[in-house]
Amino acid sequence: MSSSGRYLRINVGTGAFAFEEIPRETYRDFIGGRGLAIDYLFRNQSSGTDPLGPDNRLILATGILAGTSAPGFSRWMAITRSPLTGAYGRAVGGGKFGAYLKFCRIDFLVLEGRAERPSYVLVDEDRAQVLPADDLWGLDTQQTQQRLQALHGDRAQSAVIGPAGELGVRFATINNEWRTASRCGVGTVMGSKQIKAVCLVPKTRWLPPLQDEPRFKAMVAEHARLLKDHPRRKKMTALGTTLMTLRMDEMGLFPVKNFQEAHLTNVEAISAEKFQELKVGDYGCYGCTTRCGNVFRVKEGIYQGAESEGPEYETIFAFGGEVGNTEIGAIVAGDRLCDLLGIDTISTGVAIGFAMELFEKGILKAADVDGLDLRWGNHQALLTLIETIGRREGLGRILGEGVQRAALAIGQGAEEFAMHSKGLEFPGYEPRSAKAHGLSYATSNIGGSHMYGYARQEISGFKEPREVDRFADSGKGDIVAYNQINKAREETLILCNFADSGITPEWLAALLKAATGVDSFGDPGYLDRVGERMVTLERCFNVREGFAREQDTLPRRMLEEPLKNAGPATGEVYRSFDRLLDEYYAAMGYDHQGRPTQSKLQELGLDWAAREIKTTT
Ligand code: SF4
Repeated sequence: MSSSGRYLRINVGTGAFAFEEIPRETYRDFIGGRGLAIDYLFRNQSSGTDPLGPDNRLILATGILAGTSAPGFSRWMAITRSPLTGAYGRAVGGGKFGAYLKFCRIDFLVLEGRAERPSYVLVDEDRAQVLPADDLWGLDTQQTQQRLQALHGDRAQSAVIGPAGELGVRFATINNEWRTASRCGVGTVMGSKQIKAVCLVPKTRWLPPLQDEPRFKAMVAEHARLLKDHPRRKKMTALGTTLMTLRMDEMGLFPVKNFQEAHLTNVEAISAEKFQELKVGDYGCYGCTTRCGNVFRVKEGIYQGAESEGPEYETIFAFGGEVGNTEIGAIVAGDRLCDLLGIDTISTGVAIGFAMELFEKGILKAADVDGLDLRWGNHQALLTLIETIGRREGLGRILGEGVQRAALAIGQGAEEFAMHSKGLEFPGYEPRSAKAHGLSYATSNIGGSHMYGYARQEISGFKEPREVDRFADSGKGDIVAYNQINKAREETLILCNFADSGITPEWLAALLKAATGVDSFGDPGYLDRVGERMVTLERCFNVREGFAREQDTLPRRMLEEPLKNAGPATGEVYRSFDRLLDEYYAAMGYDHQGRPTQSKLQELGLDWAAREIKTTT
């Protein structure tokens, strides 16, 4: 096996720590990354655990090939019970932290308990220490990383929270370098434990031996040659994800004004070309040759001098279309502010778009919104609200609870305008314009995420496993199952979505076999089965927490309001959502309530999980 063979468990309340062995059968069944993490969380955490209580585990995991020369495989992941949704939560981060976990000879670490005072965790390959962090508390994410590097040297890499995580904003992030594990409030859980940072200081760049090193190196070299001229890779390197904005707008996929429309007037002002005019540098995660990160600096106007690594497409949606804004400088400044405060740009933008629509509809009045003029496109109000959300002040205190809770607090029918599934705010793709993609928001075990089962067939015209009409109201269940299982399989290695150009399931399996020497890992069908096991166990986690069919849904707007101003997607709506849901359940082997059946669990070797949930045959 090419793995560290162990994980690290730290009780941040007592300071006790232990390096524990990972059984071979666990590797066999879950391989690495997200798989090992859900196996640990399900087995070790009781149902009903308060997401913000000391017993909620926060797992930071790395992929099985992290730190190796294979580019795009060194990302990491935070997994926990989400304080935003109450469901299984996971968020993926970049930077160098994933590789450094492996250099510390661990596949994942688990934080348990709650520190009595602000603290940080210092880890090397022999021990973990819980140290006071009083002088770090209150610092932004960059200041915190710089301070820890000053204390522990250049070889230190830290995953940190900002002020928002300390204050309990429900969608706080965990950051390393300029990359963030953004979704589901993973930073909120870290803050609830009074942990400001996990700082890794490996003594060496240890890696497990590769079982067939010549083969592994030859495959990585061959892939590097393919990537050199790969058109998608070249575009990602030059433009990053900014390249998507105009295409999404043309397709009627770019959500505008809190998902009322899907075409933004003057969208060209925030196109990839306009962002290129601001580009002053680039950035890549550990060992990545695609280097999709862009550094932008605003050259003129009221945001002159604002600089950020990003924004990515999702942030352009969140601080552009979602709030009706085309002032590019505000998007750069807003991105930077979120990174420093440590909040998710998607949830932040959707919470602000929600508030703007409530203002438009007269549900929120000037007195309710701190005197702000919340008309669509008011970018100065946007920046003010980002700051107040991150600092839990004024209206930001309510919006920082996430749109589901904010709607309940505001009342007056506000829930009609809360764009989320299971409490997780929607990302930048209009569900009515891509029905499998939207069905995946509804059925995803983390809630409204585009990264749980991205429907490339609908958004990018992929033909695997078959071509799909994105507007069709049937024949989508198997596609969603395919995409979710595919993604889970890739996340045993935490392979980056943007660095996977030219990678086929067969190539991935062969690389994994060369690294680990495990014959079964060389079979793409076996890896699919592992992916299915992971998604199903995540579903079991949610079923155990009381989730059922009722939560696998979309807002009423998606089911009843034909989409307006959306080019080719104008008039689209979900005409038979229940049928789509039934199709998905059938494809996954779930019953009518969305629970895995007894026979499906047996087939996947998850009989042990079946004992903890109510199942049908
Ligand atoms: S493609 Fe971009 S996000 Fe992915 S690993 Fe490379 S630099 Fe990081």
